[in-house]
Amino acid sequence: MSDAASIYWEGCAAQEIRFLRCGECGRIPSYPRPFCERCGSHRLVWHVSSGRGRVEARTVVYRAPNAKFEPLVPYVLLLVRMAEGFIIMAHGELDVAVNDEVRPRFVEHDGRFLPVFALSSPPPPAP
Ligand SMILES: [Zn+2]
Repeated sequence: MSDAASIYWEGCAAQEIRFLRCGECGRIPSYPRPFCERCGSHRLVWHVSSGRGRVEARTVVYRAPNAKFEPLVPYVLLLVRMAEGFIIMAHGELDVAVNDEVRPRFVEHDGRFLPVFALSSPPPPAP
């Protein structure tokens, strides 16, 4: 299996959230690994998320974990449950709150594109 982290970050550079799903039973692993945690299958397949999610938790980081993130403080970290059912931890806009519907944009930082979740724009009016 290719390096899952690389595939994930390449997805972010292409403005998409990628995730693995078992090709046998449909389970989405809680973190990338070479086999399915439910059925043991090695047939894990990459998919692209719709990008739609709902905020389950939010915190504000005032002290960066390392020098790379110091220029970003204070910043919001979110747990977002994506429409496909999996949860990711990612940055968020300051005005995002728990239960908000969000979508990612991708912000270049230190050679990577970080997903930063912002409020979904309201759906267009029906014709
Ligand atoms: Zn499975």
